[in-house]
Amino acid sequence: MNKKTIRDIDVKDKRVLVRVDFNVPIDNATGDIIDDTRITAALPTIAYLREQNATVILVSHLGRPDGKVVESARLAPVAGRLGDLLGMEVPCASDVVGASAQATVASLQAGGVGMLENVRFEPGEEKNDPALAKKLASFADVFVNDAFGTAHRAHASTAGVADHLPAVAGFLMEKEIDYLGRVVEDPEPPVAAIIGGAKISSKIAVLQHLLSKVSVLLIGGGMASTFLKAQGVDVGASLVEDDQLDTARDVIAEAARRGVTLGLPVDAVVADKFAEDAEARILNVTAVPDGWMILDVGPNTASDYIAKLVGVRTVVWNGPLGVFEWKAFAGGSRALATALATSQATVVIGGGETVALVQGMGIADKFAHVSTGGGASLEFLEGRVLPGVAALLDK
Ligand code: ADP
Ligand code: MG
Repeated sequence: MNKKTIRDIDVKDKRVLVRVDFNVPIDNATGDIIDDTRITAALPTIAYLREQNATVILVSHLGRPDGKVVESARLAPVAGRLGDLLGMEVPCASDVVGASAQATVASLQAGGVGMLENVRFEPGEEKNDPALAKKLASFADVFVNDAFGTAHRAHASTAGVADHLPAVAGFLMEKEIDYLGRVVEDPEPPVAAIIGGAKISSKIAVLQHLLSKVSVLLIGGGMASTFLKAQGVDVGASLVEDDQLDTARDVIAEAARRGVTLGLPVDAVVADKFAEDAEARILNVTAVPDGWMILDVGPNTASDYIAKLVGVRTVVWNGPLGVFEWKAFAGGSRALATALATSQATVVIGGGETVALVQGMGIADKFAHVSTGGGASLEFLEGRVLPGVAALLDK
């Protein structure tokens, strides 16, 4: 990685502002944290800073409070969970840069850890307001960005603050950029991309960027129906983006021109309605009954895709092959995940739902890298420069 990390800068005895992504899922009814993966992912950076006797001031967003104080989006419960994980008190301010934040920061000892309130309570955060960035910077000597999941946004706490402080990557940010960067820039060939998920429109930039880098491209999920329709297949009531049919044809033509092995579904699990308890049948994609819809790839497609991956050295997977949230339509995604978990290839998984799939199966640790950043990893795979990364000091 060509950006400086916390290892490349003196943080000893310094006050360090760390942007973390503690945007954890919270149970609406109970207020409980459902999954603390995003908190545990930042622990290596926090531990390193504490070893260096630094004072750690954490800043994060939670949910979409849109520049207003929203009681249910306060970070105190998150600070509580972090405190449990660290075995220490983690005080949490009740504002972002006001009197409470100043008092909280002032109360911290060297080696101590504290949190500012949800930074999106401030209207200046998402506008990248320089005044807010300056106030945040005033708390510290060094800025560390460990919030890869928010790095695709140019906000005050991800980009603006770097105008006022030396800015470096934390360990999580470094790992994300290393793995995703290697896949995009310098992968061990042959390379395969598996692109699924709901819509072709949200994945088209990734498809186009990766087409020049892969030998194998496998298409699944809702977007596969648009590809099938583009080839003249009657996909019934399947999710189709009619304005993307030409895009799909372009991808098919470009894959052929480049000699890329393109995988499209040959069979499917079709349903009579978009519902968990829908009637499900396995049929060839050319036999979808009127009014029925494709909700997963079929077993022959899964086997075909797994066969096409034999001998591949690098795999990037973004987007499930079907509506994996419903058991009847999870088979394709699960079969592929199981095969990849035991493959010798370097497998990198990005995308919120795809990550949820492998975590739900309990096999996330079987892959080289499972990205914590949904939208950010997608933009990275599109070859875009992430503002939160660009703002960091070059090596
Ligand atoms: P990711 O978050 O991994 O990038 P997306 O957000 O693009 O993935 O898409 C994930 C969603 O796509 C899942 O919630 C899944 O239910 C849905 N999906 C997958 N296949 C289909 C399909 N055939 N029809 C409708 N929705 C689908
Ligand atoms: Mg998603």
